[in-house]
Amino acid sequence: MAGTSHIEIDRSALIHNLQFLKQYLGEDVKISSVIKANAYGHGIEEFVPIAEEAGINHFSVFSGDEAQRVYKTKKAATDIMVMGWMNPEEIDWAVANGVEFFVFERDKLEEALKCSREHEKPAKIHIEVETGMNRTGFIKKDLQEVVKVINDNREHFQVKGLCTHYAGAESIANHVRVQKQIKKYNKLYKWIVNRGIVPELRHTACSAAAMTYPRTRMDMVRIGILQYGFWPSPETFIHFVHKRMEKSDVLKRVLNWKSQVMSIKKVGSGEFVSYGTYYMATEEKRIAIVPVGYSHGYSRSLSNQGRVLIDGQRVPVIGIVNMNMLIADVSLIPDVKKGDEVVLIGEQGGAKITLASFADFNNQLNYELLARLPLDTPRKVIN
Ligand SMILES: *Cc1c(COP(=O)(O)O)cnc(C)c1O
Repeated sequence: MAGTSHIEIDRSALIHNLQFLKQYLGEDVKISSVIKANAYGHGIEEFVPIAEEAGINHFSVFSGDEAQRVYKTKKAATDIMVMGWMNPEEIDWAVANGVEFFVFERDKLEEALKCSREHEKPAKIHIEVETGMNRTGFIKKDLQEVVKVINDNREHFQVKGLCTHYAGAESIANHVRVQKQIKKYNKLYKWIVNRGIVPELRHTACSAAAMTYPRTRMDMVRIGILQYGFWPSPETFIHFVHKRMEKSDVLKRVLNWKSQVMSIKKVGSGEFVSYGTYYMATEEKRIAIVPVGYSHGYSRSLSNQGRVLIDGQRVPVIGIVNMNMLIADVSLIPDVKKGDEVVLIGEQGGAKITLASFADFNNQLNYELLARLPLDTPRKVIN
């Protein structure tokens, strides 16, 4: 494959995760599969058909450009929901093509109305309400005007949902704040229904909320990280397994990231490796150069910290991670040669590098590492 590394997407692992989620959350809860940030680095074009095969018919993205990519890939009957940014042309496109979107600003509502009149099609909107995260969403005072605009133009709006987002459901530290948000959301739902607007779907939960606070599941959940085989936080996982007999992880990792050895050389005792004096060989070493660096998404903060798999063994990344290269210590693998496979994330010969393991010691979230995997790294579906 072209490129200095490639990403494999494990089709059967993804189907397994989605089937588990469907079964666990129950038939009454619709799943919107969250595939913003290029499906958390997995690749929108690779991800969508597999998820559809597993029965997903609703996808959530952040922006209009992502929605257009999903639109080109999805089946005709599958729905798309944009949770964040859209420019006026994208709102026009969304209304014309029946794409759903969050409304959290008055001007967006007006724009939707204008486009609906032009296309003679109702705008499919989800009204986002502020419940305590203090990010996007209408506060009660603004909702009054929103209700008026919608009620004055009933044929121009299809109110698909009423939604909000929790400020950190993955940590027990935010428990009280989340409980308050649930209460506030339920009040606002009643309030809006009393004013003659009945949203089709109540939805508030991301992965962590859906697993930890069953009350938040309502009619639909917006599930991102779990589908890819990661838990939002160790706490969410502990909360989940503690009531179960089976303590092992029910989720499977979907993504493998692979490259190969580009060069091998010897370094004498007392020499420094890579830029500066970050790493000194304290004895004679053999090192392997791998053509993956921070420009490819391998974080600089993994300098002297990361591990990669070569020849089925976990070996340390030594020295500073460069823009396009990293260096691994292969002194203990005498057979290693140019062209050998290097696994940056995934499995090789029974050994494993899980993203979570380096996210833990790197103190960086899984979300960030995944989302930073570049668009142009080739992706290939396996299994
Ligand atoms: C990203 C996002 C989600 C999904 O979050 P996960 O933790 O990955 O499940 C849900 N809702 C909104 C509004 C989001 O931005």
